[in-house]
This record gives sequence, structure tokens and C-alpha cells, in this order.
Amino acid sequence: MDNQIDSEFLERYKRHILMKSIGGQGQKKLGQAKVLLVGLGGIGSTVLQHLSAVGIGKVGLVDKDTIALSNLQRQTIYKYEDIGKKKVSMASNFIKNLNKSVEVIEYDMFLNSDFSARIIEEYDIILDGTDNIESRELINRHCVRNKKPLIFGGVSGWEGLVSLFVYKNSACFSCTFSRPGKRADIFDCSSEGVLGVTTSLVGTLMVAETIKLICGTGPLLTNKLLVCDALNGETEVLNIKKNKKCEVCLQFN
Ligand SMILES: [Zn+2]
Repeated sequence: MDNQIDSEFLERYKRHILMKSIGGQGQKKLGQAKVLLVGLGGIGSTVLQHLSAVGIGKVGLVDKDTIALSNLQRQTIYKYEDIGKKKVSMASNFIKNLNKSVEVIEYDMFLNSDFSARIIEEYDIILDGTDNIESRELINRHCVRNKKPLIFGGVSGWEGLVSLFVYKNSACFSCTFSRPGKRADIFDCSSEGVLGVTTSLVGTLMVAETIKLICGTGPLLTNKLLVCDALNGETEVLNIKKNKKCEVCLQFN
């Protein structure tokens, strides 16, 4: 039986195992990792496809929404017949159909006081695929308090942002965006509109960052903000830094 498991493992992940930067050891680390994905919209759809395909050990899914017609333009895991169904259930089914070795935990909840530090504590890495500033600030507070790395993705129109916050005392979301004059709410696709492709672009880059963090490879996006502009075909990496006056960092560090 063990040989059977090993041969399936080797066959499924052989393209990863061939890579020097991942290899068999990296693949095993991916299989032991616990990742929490908050938000099952456009970014979340792409993220969970890759988290399950790459063989993350445990994936937690947080969302309270049901699927709507306007979601189908970018939330690529859902089908027309899924309209009205719970995102968390459909997303969970998607993962189970793709990779049975992934343990999936469903959190059918709003991001309010129910979404507690207790949930965050069970995971190694938190991925933020939400679309509003209130949710992002709440997730960030929990991550800073629990010292959990937070992989951030945001989209608007043709543009996307990706960063790794709260890792080895790096800048947090609030250090970066919650300053007077900064407009984090521009990354709210419900008011600004978004190209479906941009959410996939950002989601894919977030999973790449997750894999690097788990496998201990490559330079990470700590204290950096990756900006991609699909319209002009350009990417840019901006340096960011911890804000000494950040209220969240001051409260919990
Ligand atoms: Zn901060």
C-alpha cells in the first residue's frame, strides 16, 4: 500500500520533484503545510485551484457568500448551475475532486467576530482574497497578533498588487495602506470593476509566493509590493517598509 501511495505521489508531482528549488523534500513540505484562504471570489477561485493542484496538506476556506451570475465573469471554478449555492461548499467540492489528499475545512461565516484568532492559529499561512478594506484590516490584525505570514492580493481594473506581510517582522497591511492619503479602497472590485484575467494573475502570483515560503526558496515579497499592469504588460516591484507609527504593529509587538 505504501508503495502504491509513493508511486502515485511521484507520478502526480513529478514536474515539481524535477525542479531543484522544490524537489521531493519541498513537495513533502507542501503536503504538510496548512493554508487558510479568506474570500472565495475571483482571486480565491484561482488560488484554491493551485493550492489543491500543488498538494497543500490542509486548506481552510472562509466565505459566507452564495454564487451570483455576475461572479461567473472571473470566478472560474463556479458553473452556471451553481448560482444560488454556497461558495464554500462548491469550492470545497472542487478541491476534493481535484486532489483527495488535500484536507479541506469549510468556514461558512462572515468576517466578523466569528472569524477569530482561534481559526488563524490552526494555519501556517493566511491568504487574503477579500475585496474590501474592513475585511482586510480584520485579517491583518489577527495575523499581526498571531505572527502569521499574510499573503495579500488586490485587484482593480487591469491592475493587481501582491505582497507578503507580517513575516519576520516585515511591514503589515496597515503599515502599507492605512495611512492618511493612501487609498486602499481603490482595490475594491465591486465599486471599480475588474478584468477577470487580473484576478487570476494575482491569485497565481499569491500561490507562487506561498510555495516559495513553504519550500524556503527564492527571494520573498517581504517589504515589497509587486504591481502588475495587464493593460500595459508591465510589472514593477516597489519597496515598502514597516511604519513605526502603525497602530496595529504597535498594539501587538
Ligand atoms: Zn503594521
